[in-house]
Amino acid sequence: MDGMTDDQPRDFIREIVAGHVGEKRYPGIVTRFPPEPNGYLHIGHAKSICLNFGIARENNGRCNLRMDDTNPTKEDVEYVDSIMEDVAWLIQGWADKSLGLKKDGAPFFASDYFDALYEYALTLIRAGKAYVCDLSPEDTDKFRGAPDKPGIESPFRNRSIAESLDLFQQMKAGAFPNGTRTLRARIDMASPNVWLRDPILYRIRHAAHHQAGRKWCIYPMYDFAHCLSDYIEGITHSICTLEFEVHRPLYDWILGALDLSRPLPHQYEFARLNVTHTVMSKRKLLELVQKGLVAGWDDPRMPTICGMRRRGYPAGAIREFCRRIGVGKVENMIDLSLLEFCVREQLNKTAPRVMAVLKPLKVVIENYPDEKVEELDAVNNPEDVGAGMRKVPFGKTLYIEQDDFREDPPKEFFRLAPGREVRLRYAYFITCREAVKDPVSGEVVELRCTYDPATHGGNAPDGRKVKSTIHWVSAAHAVGIEARLYDRLFTLEDPSRVEDGKDYKDLLNPRSLTVVRDVKAEPSLLAAGAGDVVQFERLGYFCVDRDSTAGQKIFSRTVTLKDEWAKIEKRTHAVAGGPGHKGK
Ligand code: ATP
Ligand code: MG
Repeated sequence: MDGMTDDQPRDFIREIVAGHVGEKRYPGIVTRFPPEPNGYLHIGHAKSICLNFGIARENNGRCNLRMDDTNPTKEDVEYVDSIMEDVAWLIQGWADKSLGLKKDGAPFFASDYFDALYEYALTLIRAGKAYVCDLSPEDTDKFRGAPDKPGIESPFRNRSIAESLDLFQQMKAGAFPNGTRTLRARIDMASPNVWLRDPILYRIRHAAHHQAGRKWCIYPMYDFAHCLSDYIEGITHSICTLEFEVHRPLYDWILGALDLSRPLPHQYEFARLNVTHTVMSKRKLLELVQKGLVAGWDDPRMPTICGMRRRGYPAGAIREFCRRIGVGKVENMIDLSLLEFCVREQLNKTAPRVMAVLKPLKVVIENYPDEKVEELDAVNNPEDVGAGMRKVPFGKTLYIEQDDFREDPPKEFFRLAPGREVRLRYAYFITCREAVKDPVSGEVVELRCTYDPATHGGNAPDGRKVKSTIHWVSAAHAVGIEARLYDRLFTLEDPSRVEDGKDYKDLLNPRSLTVVRDVKAEPSLLAAGAGDVVQFERLGYFCVDRDSTAGQKIFSRTVTLKDEWAKIEKRTHAVAGGPGHKGK
């Protein structure tokens, strides 16, 4: 669909995979994307999706979409459904959707393996590699020690296998309240890696599960469930973010302790994505939603996939962004304007151009016949000949942007001013004869102009030039629409770096949304449907919002036409560091 994403640069993970393919280490390459259904997916997840599905697609492999659902109290089917929808949307036309799903079209669920995981736990107990511990959560923490301080062994560490087996079965049967007992791996309380200090494998949680219902009151911990889910699904390359590097010895220990048939999955870590002017932790995003600081998970200011979709970002632009940032081992901060650049680049090729006036100023063409209306030819998209032409009505009274007129123009201002001639896009040259002012406020409320009929279509037969071309809308034909102008959600580049006593929420940009009512637009916009993206000439790309009603169309500004990225790229190339990478 979009050729752009095809020349995928080889990152270190793809190098490793290519090596394994070369030596035929596995019968096939299998990756997974394992979100926890406790929130909506964001642009960071998009990086992981592009990486995991990308590797599968490039190697004729598979990538399982797996709900990592081992924590029932924070999870919900609402999130499962949104994840399904967002992944399908993001990979549509690029990777086969069935690549990630089971034959019945459902995603994979870690909870599908609860029975198998329970059996594996019993195996570990029988082998003397796990025990039931009666320490309270606080004591378990205290006994674990710190990286520079060895832990203390639990007094229950050496209870008999038979006793642990019996207690674990009673835990499962619901005999004990939350927090009273855990199942722990017997590894090494003195290990410099705290994750190996007898980590908890199971805990008691009397809670219903969104998939498994009331069947369980013990739930496996991430570290136990993840490696085994990978094993059960035949994952070859289990790719996650760097913070899991310290978990890798545990991942390998559990698989090793169970004496499983080979090949075993292996974990690889890459640097997570951070983007300026936003937050990405699901906890924080949830807080923004719950406190009503944004209008929901799909608020167009959110860094969520559904927010970006609603704002009009094309899936291909998000994938192109992920391709450009690459995959490495060093965490950094990517400038939001790189994402905006990718969006703009793609929409430039696909979005039909229309004319709309955000801040209208009335223009009357004095020498144009009162009742006359012309249907002028306008190009739908100069970047795409196939997009064709349309007719735009022109009449005696028009609207132009207030910003396109200055009564007293400064030196660099080439647009309309008293006595000056400019081109109306697709129409005529007009000259401003008089600025009519409101007698009370002194504001310019109307321009009296004349037009030159010989310049029909926008060119003068005598070859005379004008210095600017402005957009306009015929007043008699204009449709009133609402425009929502979005800006960055946070004022600071890195809102997680807040001063003492402050909170990231204090850094919300108070001007992240400006609503402009009664925007005047050309009538062709009436045909646009929810999700359609158009370019308002000279103003930006706008997407029809789903809040639109029959009587009132609402357009969200997807992105402006200004390329901040070009500036940044110049700057960062001049200084050290690669494109868009801000050292953290
Ligand atoms: P949070 O900590 O905010 O809840 P998470 O990392 O726990 O987020 P998961 O649902 O567990 O979210 O993530 C699913 C997958 O997406 C994981 O493999 C994780 O490594 C990856 N992922 C999450 N955030 C990012 C990010 N910012 N950049 C790249 N990959 C990410
Ligand atoms: Mg997680």
